[in-house]
Amino acid sequence: ARKRDGKNGAQVYDSSILDKTRERAEIESDVEVGIAANWFEAHFQPIVDIVTGVPAGFEALMRLRHPRKGLLSPAGIIAVAEENGTIGQIGNLILEDALANLARVSRLSGMADSYVAVNFSPLQFDAGLPSRLAALLSRYAIRPSRLVVEITEAVLMHDNPEIRTILNEIQGFGCRIALDDFGTGYSSLSYMSRFPVDIVKIDQSFIRSLDQQGEIGRKNKMLIEGITAISRKMNCKIVAEGVETSQQRSTLIDMGVDYAQGYYFSKPREINDLLSGLRAEQVPVASMAG
Ligand code: C2E
Ligand code: MG
Ligand code: MG
Ligand code: MG
Repeated sequence: ARKRDGKNGAQVYDSSILDKTRERAEIESDVEVGIAANWFEAHFQPIVDIVTGVPAGFEALMRLRHPRKGLLSPAGIIAVAEENGTIGQIGNLILEDALANLARVSRLSGMADSYVAVNFSPLQFDAGLPSRLAALLSRYAIRPSRLVVEITEAVLMHDNPEIRTILNEIQGFGCRIALDDFGTGYSSLSYMSRFPVDIVKIDQSFIRSLDQQGEIGRKNKMLIEGITAISRKMNCKIVAEGVETSQQRSTLIDMGVDYAQGYYFSKPREINDLLSGLRAEQVPVASMAG
């Protein structure tokens, strides 16, 4: 199938293609072969202290390294993997890659406190998840507070009465929970009171809207300020996603946002690029404890 260039020079599947069935079959086959042949890998994007620019942690983002097509982005892959049930296997591969490399990041750069944030799909939430996470953390000798479990509204909406219990258990042994793409869902605010949340990630659409002039831009600023104020009252850390300009950064600093993630600071990088970059910069790590 045809491909077009996506972000980071990676390829994404072309959603405008007419032959959806063939496209889907191709993704399914890439996923199936990719799991068996070990083509999945995590790339890492720093989440920085918005004032100092120093990384507090890294988000692990799934990539499929196809020997012929090159690096494939999650767009398209995740949806197919959720439908055919392979998301659990892919999720585990990314989680293990993330934990194994977090150990390397701290060993090689002395960043003992940095965390890794991993995205979870609704289908990964079953009663066994907390003990699987605990076992993996102890296998990699990583303190639970250094794993952030990123969920979207899709997880909380999922028809699973156990979700709250599972999240409480995960938070109970020390992992942190981040609410991803915050503000775009149907009832983002209500989830803050009903589920244990440590970190709120303001969706990149709000950050982009900071550039808008006039009424809409002004109102969007108020929304971000409101989200920030509520998060602070609820003792949640705030991360702004998709920060691309120094203008956005300084506006967000004025609004009291704590942390940022975006191309302005760094694109997602493969582990070896990340490690050599960190070694060159010799950056100290900001503490995100408390
Ligand atoms: P997300 O969790 O909200 O991740 C942030 C996305 O924004 C990433 O896209 C990242 O590359 C992109 N991004 C970061 N900074 C900027 C910026 O300054 N400008 C712009 N335009 N984009 C920026 P990516 O890597 O393509 O991932 C897309 C989505 O796929 C993720 O959104 C997440 O929902 C999902 N995803 C990625 N990896 C996994 C995974 O291992 N498991 C699951 N279940 N979902 C994943
Ligand atoms: Mg995320
Ligand atoms: Mg997000
Ligand atoms: Mg997203």
